[in-house]
Amino acid sequence: MDRFVLWDIDGTLVSVGGLGAEVFDRAIEATLGRRPPERVRMSGKTDPQIVGEYLEMLAVEDPAGQLESVLEHLERELAAAEHEMRGGGRMLPGVTAVIDELAAGGGVLQSVLTGNIAPNARLKLAAFGLDGLLDLEVGAYGSDHADRRMLVPVALARLAELRHVELAPGQVWIVGDTANDLACARAAGARCLLVATGRAPLEDLAALGPDAVLADLADTAAVVAILRS
Ligand SMILES: [Mg+2]
Repeated sequence: MDRFVLWDIDGTLVSVGGLGAEVFDRAIEATLGRRPPERVRMSGKTDPQIVGEYLEMLAVEDPAGQLESVLEHLERELAAAEHEMRGGGRMLPGVTAVIDELAAGGGVLQSVLTGNIAPNARLKLAAFGLDGLLDLEVGAYGSDHADRRMLVPVALARLAELRHVELAPGQVWIVGDTANDLACARAAGARCLLVATGRAPLEDLAALGPDAVLADLADTAAVVAILRS
């Protein structure tokens, strides 16, 4: 095993459409009895980070105490919206072909590094049949740390502990769609491929100076060549 590919989920593997932001409104309403008056920017942030910003916007008392409760509701609301997620969401172009090709060639372990709390990461992947293709036990999640930049070491530690594979950060590829994915890779000394299938346009992502940047994952051979390099 000499490469560890950590996939971001939203905007990289799948798009869940408007539901991605809507579940936060529902979870906050279920916890606090009111919806946020406006939406926070979510791209590349972790779920606890997003919820923390909402709690600050709403000026709730005891935000630390409410955070866990909102995250529990977030899990419940997404699980309840599984049908809606399938109907309004989609897998992004080229995803299964790249994952299959990397798996078939050997030498590459694949998991996720995502801002989603772990149960919601699994729900989103399962909705599009991707959960069985990745080793989710060695992934890193928003539920592990609110700061995405802390998450590569979490995944590497799980890989060592659960799969007895010791890899260096330089053997890790982060694949994501935002500046926060790149910051997370840089903080750990990992490399980063950015894809313009989320909100950020290709030229904006390219200007950040990632190790590689693509419009999408449709060119299987090109993506695989990058992630095996
Ligand atoms: Mg993303």
